[in-house]
Amino acid sequence: MNLVIFGPPGSGKGTQAKILQEKRGWPQLSTGDMLRSAIAAGTDLGRKCKSIMDKGELVPDDVVIGIISERYDQADCAGGAIFDGFPRTIPQARALDQMLKLRSKQIDLVIELKVDDKVLIDRVRTRIAQSGGVARADDTPETLQNRLAVYYQNTAPLLEYYKRQGKLVTVDGMAPIEEVTKAIAEVIANAGHKGCLGLG
Ligand code: AMP
Repeated sequence: MNLVIFGPPGSGKGTQAKILQEKRGWPQLSTGDMLRSAIAAGTDLGRKCKSIMDKGELVPDDVVIGIISERYDQADCAGGAIFDGFPRTIPQARALDQMLKLRSKQIDLVIELKVDDKVLIDRVRTRIAQSGGVARADDTPETLQNRLAVYYQNTAPLLEYYKRQGKLVTVDGMAPIEEVTKAIAEVIANAGHKGCLGLG
């Protein structure tokens, strides 16, 4: 199954994608993680993206579309994947649909984790406090404000895009982690029962 975990920064997408990967075996494809690895490895791509990411802006669509297509063609994605932090713009969503169509696949389900802005800001503050000063470069209250603004401007319109495709399901992302995990499992099971998913 090909699943998008969708939500604003700090909504718990990565946490839930990792749990799903462990339980269901679908690999978590996080463009944020891939870009951070490129920065850590000192590649040209990493150098090009670092300052953009530090500001909380989006890296160009063609860059993330390129890295996600390359990653999706690896053998472990044959049974599907969990897209985490991708797509983030309408052109990315269209490119993803096109890429999957060319491989006779599709996005089966989009799960939105809904979290209020105030809770997101509190979560990032906690993450910074717990990190002992070695937080992600873009994990500051100021950058979060920008990442949220970028989310509402560029990414939130995707909710309508996937709603129109009949693929969007919203889950309360403010519940405790285990409850969110349970709600996601139910959504996946229900979608499977309805027979609308190419589970595999
Ligand atoms: P994340 O770990 O998903 O919060 O991503 C961290 C940062 O990486 C974002 O703030 C962007 O600068 C960049 N990034 C990750 N995924 C994308 C994407 N799909 N499109 C554009 N930029 C991205």
